[in-house]
Amino acid sequence: MAKAKKKKSIIKKKDEEKDLYLSFKFKLRPTRKQEQAFTKFVGHARFVYNNFIFTKREDYDEYVEEVESRLIWMEASNEEEARKLTYNQFLNKYTYNYALDYVKEKYPFLKEAPSQALQQKSQDLFIAFQRHFDHITEYPVPKKKGVHDTFRIPQHFEFDEKNSRVKLPKVGWVRYRKSRDLPTEASSITIIKEADGWYMSVLCNMGKAPKTDNADMSTAIGIDMGVKRFYTTSEGEFAEDLQILLKPIDEQIVRLQKRIKNKVQGSKRLAKAYKKLARLHKKKANIRNDFIQKEFTQLVKNHDVICVEDLCIKNMTKSAKGTVSKPGRNVRQKSGLNRAILNQGWGEFLFCLEYKLALKGGILERVSPQYTSQTCPICGHVSKDNRKTQSEFKCVHCGHTANADSNAAQNILLAGLASIAREANSTDGNTSQAVGNANPPKLICACAG
Ligand SMILES: [Zn+2]
Repeated sequence: MAKAKKKKSIIKKKDEEKDLYLSFKFKLRPTRKQEQAFTKFVGHARFVYNNFIFTKREDYDEYVEEVESRLIWMEASNEEEARKLTYNQFLNKYTYNYALDYVKEKYPFLKEAPSQALQQKSQDLFIAFQRHFDHITEYPVPKKKGVHDTFRIPQHFEFDEKNSRVKLPKVGWVRYRKSRDLPTEASSITIIKEADGWYMSVLCNMGKAPKTDNADMSTAIGIDMGVKRFYTTSEGEFAEDLQILLKPIDEQIVRLQKRIKNKVQGSKRLAKAYKKLARLHKKKANIRNDFIQKEFTQLVKNHDVICVEDLCIKNMTKSAKGTVSKPGRNVRQKSGLNRAILNQGWGEFLFCLEYKLALKGGILERVSPQYTSQTCPICGHVSKDNRKTQSEFKCVHCGHTANADSNAAQNILLAGLASIAREANSTDGNTSQAVGNANPPKLICACAG
């Protein structure tokens, strides 16, 4: 088979696998009564979630004990094998259905909420436990009131875009601020409580991703993500420091938090201060979102192919405490860096970049971050000594010098191009990227306010 033909067939296979999802966020304008209903629903959904986590803890401990005893009695040679031998009810979907039926019968007040919203929460549990058993997260944490209060409605809703309203089960027609039309039919709606009111995030299936055949490889760049500079490209361009943009608000938040400490518990002033704090966080999120939006729009406009480090941001931010089998090291230092990473919004940025590129038929290529900062792009020499300071790269072999960040970006570009070429030449097409996979995206890409 000719090479070109092979390439085509692989790309086709990739495209067949992927559906692209985008979510659009709108501000809701509920009546007082509808607002009360929403508050009730998020509470009920949270109740289902937390009840499961609390009541199943014993079952979970029993499971862990059983796995451990298999290891002690040498029924299995390693943990993975012991897990395979032990029945794990948490990886069985029916566990969650049964638990939901049970809890609904025990607590009849739950029937006030749309049953699909509760079902969705119980599905979230399934995903949370899957992630836990994949060693991505710890045992699921109960949801706190006021933190990420949401519920999801997967069907039985109706849009009346002409009149800017949406019909939701058990609450009827809710008005919303229509800042744009929906590009396609909605596939689910998530209702979200934020500091300044209620929002809905509408998930739309954009169909199959466009083909990547026509991506212009000559526009390919590499990007190095940093804490100081948000990113640096292989062409030496860089984005401004997001941290500096956020600093004034961060300072306000710290001041307010200090004042909150001195206020009397349960007082009106305290409640007021908390409200103000929430508004500040919202303002901060807006600044970050604007920044991210501006940056990825610019990049996608000018480039069809963008190579980035595969940072597994989730792992970086969540693994500091470690799991039972892999206790975390340097928890304190790590959590400092992690806060910076979260502040930076890398995950959101890369997510948006990936979707926007996929929409135009471009490619986001993730490469292993190993040695990207220590490799000389000219002679290929790899050494720790190549990077003596944070900002400067100097090859100890050939003497090549460059800015350390843009040097890393160049290595990322080279690695990315090599891996794209490998994918095109390989006969099996299983190297697909994680664009538009089965997990519905959680982050908002095309923000509409
Ligand atoms: Zn060199």
